[in-house]
Amino acid sequence: MAVKLRPEIAALQPYRQGRPAAADAFKLSSNENPFPAHPAIVEAIAATNPGRYPDAAATVLRERLGADYGIAPDRIHVGSGSVALLQQLILAAAAPGDEVAYSWRSFEAYPGLVTVAGATSVTVPNRADGGHDLPALAAAVTERTRVVIVCTPNNPTGPIVTADEFAAFMAAVPDTLLVLLDEAYREFVTDPAAVDGIPLLDRYPNLVVLRTFSKAYGLAGLRVGYALGPAEVLDAARSTAIPLSVTEPAQRAAIAALDHDAELRGRVDEIIARRDRIRDALRAQGWPLPEPQGNFVWLATGEQTVAAGEILERHGIIARLFPGDGIRVSVGEEESVEPLLRSAEEVVRTLP
Ligand code: PMP
Repeated sequence: MAVKLRPEIAALQPYRQGRPAAADAFKLSSNENPFPAHPAIVEAIAATNPGRYPDAAATVLRERLGADYGIAPDRIHVGSGSVALLQQLILAAAAPGDEVAYSWRSFEAYPGLVTVAGATSVTVPNRADGGHDLPALAAAVTERTRVVIVCTPNNPTGPIVTADEFAAFMAAVPDTLLVLLDEAYREFVTDPAAVDGIPLLDRYPNLVVLRTFSKAYGLAGLRVGYALGPAEVLDAARSTAIPLSVTEPAQRAAIAALDHDAELRGRVDEIIARRDRIRDALRAQGWPLPEPQGNFVWLATGEQTVAAGEILERHGIIARLFPGDGIRVSVGEEESVEPLLRSAEEVVRTLP
């Protein structure tokens, strides 16, 4: 006899990871940082004692982030990646029967996290330019909505939410509704009109901002992200977390990354310059590219997505396919740019 599982969980697809690339291919499917680990980070990891449990409260890292941002450490919560923080915050606010609203397409993990909480996803389509339609998202809020997620820059399409769009959105929703501003790619944003969540924390009692060390700081493998927001909301999130899940190597490496912020930001600047070069070249090929403000670009390949993905792969580019919709390609190593552009040009030339 089959074990009785929650049917909605048994029906879920487990997280789909970007495929590993062959030795001679570029893995551009997970928006990872292409630079090698900074030596200070490797050193910080090596100095930890794996025989001891980590500091459950990540005290030193929270104090450091608090000092850097001018925010009290009790308004910062550290998690094993920002995806863990998303889950904790959704669990803290949304129960079975409640709704969680977000734009779509967006980060693939959102629907699964909502289902795990037993809540219901309500999605609103993105605009034709790949950006969030925030007036439509505000209009989708009902008395059952407990959480709204806004992703800027949006994964996988790339555009930002502007400060003005976000202010109008916050004015349109009740301040009892938890708003999660997912800024996983904030360090790659160059558009001066973009929202920046952190200076807004004092203005909105219902705002939580999510950041990560996975992308700009190159610590994806260590799993460390942080949330900034009201202390009582973060305390509730903490109560849903698996205790001690942020390891000591992760905490130490994050502090080492902050110690070398200027150098790591220099690497981010290189990725931004490479992204803008790729954007201009793809647009010159005729791609109607949504404005990329993260470390990735979006090719709207529609029904040709799988065929286009095969062409990219033949040129050694492993990207993330969303069949029927498009392809997200991370900005990776300098050596990956030429094969990416060559394969994208072949897609334009050979597919209808
Ligand atoms: N939010 C967005 C929009 C993402 O794209 C990702 C990673 N792909 C995350 C959150 C989670 O990142 P992490 O758990 O590595 O911090």
